[in-house]
Amino acid sequence: MAWKTLDDMDLKGKVVLVRVDINVPMEGGRVSDMTRIDKIKPTVEDIVAKGGKVVLLAHFDRPKGKVVPEMSLGHVVDALAGSLGRKVVFGADCVGDVAAAAIERAGAGDVVLLENTRFHPGEEKNDPELAAQMAKLGQVYVNDAFSAAHRAHASTEGLARLLPAAAGRLMEAELRALEAALGTPKRPVVAVVGGAKVSTKIELLANLVTKVDHLVIGGGMANTFLVAEGVEVGKSLAEREMAETAREIRHRAQKAGCKIHLPVDVVVAREFKAGADSQTVGVRDCPPDAMILDAGPQTVTELEGVFAGAKTLIWNGPLGAFEIEPFNAATKAAALAAARLTKAGSLISVAGGGDTVAALNAAGAAADFTFISTAGGAFLEWMEGKELPGVQALMG
Ligand code: AMP
Repeated sequence: MAWKTLDDMDLKGKVVLVRVDINVPMEGGRVSDMTRIDKIKPTVEDIVAKGGKVVLLAHFDRPKGKVVPEMSLGHVVDALAGSLGRKVVFGADCVGDVAAAAIERAGAGDVVLLENTRFHPGEEKNDPELAAQMAKLGQVYVNDAFSAAHRAHASTEGLARLLPAAAGRLMEAELRALEAALGTPKRPVVAVVGGAKVSTKIELLANLVTKVDHLVIGGGMANTFLVAEGVEVGKSLAEREMAETAREIRHRAQKAGCKIHLPVDVVVAREFKAGADSQTVGVRDCPPDAMILDAGPQTVTELEGVFAGAKTLIWNGPLGAFEIEPFNAATKAAALAAARLTKAGSLISVAGGGDTVAALNAAGAAADFTFISTAGGAFLEWMEGKELPGVQALMG
């Protein structure tokens, strides 16, 4: 690994600027989901144990370079203190005298939280002047916000180049999991890509076919690939104008030795609603007035075979309209199969992306996956083979 971790850093007596993701959902002025806040604890604890003073930098919502009181990080202070079990000292600006005074005020073992970095227009512009002002506040930089690493902002990229920099524990776990899945994976590797549209995942598909041994295409995007092969899909969601792109991806896969798996049977219905009358038909038998809303049981059996023969699995996107019963069946069964194989020790499984996390949670499969990334955009950009500026900057 070309990046450093907390283990490589001397933190004793140092002020450590830690970029975290605490962009949490709020309801009625209270944090409604603590997941992101809870995940920063290992990094905070390790820095304190090494004798460093923790100063948290983070963005919250999209204030677009202006001070928006509703988007103040002051609203999460209590939740943060509760989760960390430590006193949290809040600084009402992320630079300058106000920030320095908050850092000064904090005693041993206290955690400093500085105000929303995006209140400054320089944050999203990666303004070197803003990064330099942040750098003045401490001696070491730690980035624990993988989910913001696809953005070259002052607190994610600029700052990392001004101070000795390391990955926090959460960032480290993400990077190791991603490296294990696509960097130097155990083969065979299978990728599952589902979801609504080919058009939003072209780069992802184009990259994956050059890296993985099997590509399973599911969800609405499978319909586009079927159309490209001349299969009639009735009223299904399909991007007919993307048929040529689908053929190009197939061609690229063939050249790279990647086998593409499309559904062999499908669940069709005439209405897109819970409990709609549905039937399972062969993939070529979708009635003209029906739509494909899920993969069928034969497809799932085939996928279970592919998973069983694989050593690594990477997953983004559901195999069907998983939010609506019974069209969650294929996603659920395939996810549970991957979870079982992971638990048995024969598969490394990594999944990510907003809907994917929800689908795997709903299936009760998430806990047994090797790693679930909650990073959304950063996870997808990494799957697309892009370099993430926040990670690049840690390489020095
Ligand atoms: P994405 O955000 O691209 O990962 O797409 C996820 C969405 O695709 C979910 O809301 C699913 O309900 C939807 N989806 C998956 N398969 C189908 C399908 N066959 N027909 C319509 N929508 C689908």
